[in-house]
Amino acid sequence: MKVRIDYDLCMGDRNCNKVCPEVFEYDQDQFLSRVLVDEVPGHLENQVRKAARECAPGAIIIEE
Ligand code: SF4
Repeated sequence: MKVRIDYDLCMGDRNCNKVCPEVFEYDQDQFLSRVLVDEVPGHLENQVRKAARECAPGAIIIEE
């Protein structure tokens, strides 16, 4: 699984960072979250799906 963030949509509320900090890091300078990994480790896939479901503007894009 790969994941990326659409920066035209991200509103920087940090929810993904709280749900899965291993994959999403908050960029304090840009007020956005960033993806830390190229490939999501298998044991974190469900957390990443949860983060995507909870992302209000739908900015988290999962590619299976
Ligand atoms: S949950 Fe969505 S809107 Fe919030 S910081 Fe993460 S990607 Fe951005």
